[in-house]
Amino acid sequence: MGSAMDIVEQAARDVLERMFRGLFWGVLFVAGVVGAVALLLLVIALVRLWRRRWAIVQEERQERRRRYDADGTPRPAYGRGLCDVCQKADEQTYHLSDGRRLCPACYPKRHEARVSETSSTKEHV
Ligand SMILES: [Zn+2]
Repeated sequence: MGSAMDIVEQAARDVLERMFRGLFWGVLFVAGVVGAVALLLLVIALVRLWRRRWAIVQEERQERRRRYDADGTPRPAYGRGLCDVCQKADEQTYHLSDGRRLCPACYPKRHEARVSETSSTKEHV
């Protein structure tokens, strides 16, 4: 009688142990999957954040380039207009204090443009 009880007890213990082991691996598996998905989402979120921040940095850099010269001196206000030198319409035409309007391509050459263009146009006007 005692040995029969032992066998039943042993069997029950085996079943419980197997269940716990199964549960352990099951939990580990689920945790692994959840962890992997969470990690993937985190990486995606970080990449998106980084790209957005990079875009903002690029935008600011571009804006700074629009507003300031390479040597750091501020450029005049700009807006939509026609360039006085090349007659090209641009969203970013600089409105100079002397009344001239120059596109981003002509603006860096304004010192040469001042000598050749305005001296001749002022004579005619
Ligand atoms: Zn121009």
